[in-house]
Amino acid sequence: MNAPTAEAAEGATSGRVVEAGDELASRPINTEVAIIGTGFSGLGMGIALVKDGRHDFVILEKADDVGGTWRDNSYPGCACDVQSHMYSFSFEQNPSWSRMFSPQPEIWDYLRRVTDKYQLRRYVRFGVEVTGARWDPDSGRWILRTRTTSGEPVEYRAQFLVAGVGALHIPNIPALPGIERFAGTAFHSAQWNHDYDLTGKKVAVVGTGASAIQFVPEIAGQVEKVTLFQRSAPWVLPKLDRELPGWTKTLFRVFPPARRAYRAAVYWINESLALGFNGHPALLRAVERVGRRHLARQVSDPVLRRKLMPRYTLGCKRVLMSNTYYPALAGPNAEVVTAGLTEVREHSVVDSDGVEHQVDAIIYGTGFHVTDSFDYLDIKGRDGRDLAAEWRDHGIQTHLGITVSGFPNLFFLLGPNTGLGHNSVVFMIEAQVRYALAAMKLARRHRAEAIEVRESAQARFNDEIQRRLAKGVWSTGGCTNWYLDAKGVNRTIWPGQTWRYWLATRTVEPSDFELISATGGTGGQPDAPEMATEGAA
Ligand SMILES: Cc1cc2nc3c(=O)[nH]c(=O)nc-3n(C[C@H](O)[C@H](O)[C@H](O)COP(=O)(O)OP(=O)(O)OC[C@H]3O[C@@H](n4cnc5c(N)ncnc54)[C@H](O)[C@@H]3O)c2cc1C
Repeated sequence: MNAPTAEAAEGATSGRVVEAGDELASRPINTEVAIIGTGFSGLGMGIALVKDGRHDFVILEKADDVGGTWRDNSYPGCACDVQSHMYSFSFEQNPSWSRMFSPQPEIWDYLRRVTDKYQLRRYVRFGVEVTGARWDPDSGRWILRTRTTSGEPVEYRAQFLVAGVGALHIPNIPALPGIERFAGTAFHSAQWNHDYDLTGKKVAVVGTGASAIQFVPEIAGQVEKVTLFQRSAPWVLPKLDRELPGWTKTLFRVFPPARRAYRAAVYWINESLALGFNGHPALLRAVERVGRRHLARQVSDPVLRRKLMPRYTLGCKRVLMSNTYYPALAGPNAEVVTAGLTEVREHSVVDSDGVEHQVDAIIYGTGFHVTDSFDYLDIKGRDGRDLAAEWRDHGIQTHLGITVSGFPNLFFLLGPNTGLGHNSVVFMIEAQVRYALAAMKLARRHRAEAIEVRESAQARFNDEIQRRLAKGVWSTGGCTNWYLDAKGVNRTIWPGQTWRYWLATRTVEPSDFELISATGGTGGQPDAPEMATEGAA
């Protein structure tokens, strides 16, 4: 099973892209590992496989280039809000980041460079959207349905399936009453309409999340008027961002220990916030004072200041950083509306106070589908179990955010309860990549067809994190946020410090898993743990 199949050797390792009409397109393509997505997750998994000497894999990507988040979000001012030297692969540190928080084009460029360095393009099938996956117990394979830009669906069969589909990937666009009547232009920040010239336009911005606070200051100087619809005021801290001087880049290039020490310092400073988020809100008071002072310094109008004052504990929603957001809103052409947006008319929007605002364009800074984002993937596991239905009915449950009982050989990257509000998720992704690779090796070492996490291990993990999350600021901080599912359960955040996650994923514990033999029977439990370090990313 480990040797590349003929199809994979041709299609996966030779770099030949399978097109409609291609001979290969008409029959299933077999491969050992199918990875979905080319963001940090999918690329990280691909690199780990290459480093491990495994070349029988494909990466399926519905778009036409790599990059995920950093390909899609091209809105003005888009940048990371975790320092670039931390928000990047540990094994591909970049001495040349231009700023402490680098802009989107640079991060996208970084991901493309990493892709080329590891020659990953040969494994990527662009324009292939996975629409569903079904576990076939007879062949011990995942059978993937796809939709391709070339029109002809291609079926992939893979022993292991790795989903790096992204947690912030599907734009959440509110169904505003009357939007179909709107004669202007409307778009989401993740689908920025670069053909639309905002100069001199009246623009309504809906939402005050991480994207809106980046693009509002950028467009404020260009538009005639920006009307910001705010449901709740976010905490905004000063952004300690600056251009990195040439000498730092040189130092980081010629003396890598300095770069590593800087990254470590950033990591531990960010980690200190986790304490406050997880059951010690008193520690956040000092940070809240910084936020209040920032607001007071930048907004002199007491009415506007009151509107912009957050009314929940810092950390309950993502903490934002900007030096330009408040000044933009305090400018003469900006208005902050706290009454909800209730109706869209042909050339205006109406708020819940009945005030009509003339607008030429509506920009949604309304974030993404998060806890319901897996509904779109139709995944059927052992005995026909329907992942989306189970998660809808019982809440999202996984083991370590990576594996799911009933779904053999399936691995999520940046899966449920592994998101962060305080540090780089690339750290989490790297831990998950190592873990997934180690689990595959464990199965291989035992000549098993499949490896599946035990229900008991999964339940233990969920009980534990939900117990910890109950004390977290996301539940106790007095806000509604996108971390919680429809039932108010936090299915998004990793509660605590990330080194604990690193520790929890260091080994694949044999007692947590069951092996399934080629005949479909259980092959029992693995004997010794598999360290998640070899061939690691
Ligand atoms: C504007 C913005 C700024 C952010 N800043 C930070 C930050 O500073 N720090 C931080 O830690 N995190 C940040 N994040 C979170 C960010 O999403 C993650 O850090 C990271 O980029 C996620 O990588 P990923 O590979 O898991 O997912 P993504 O980058 O979303 O990639 C998923 C890929 O899968 C593809 N895909 C999805 N479904 C399918 C399918 N069915 N078939 C085929 N292909 C599919 C998509 O096209 C995409 O290329 C930010 C997010 C946004 C939106």
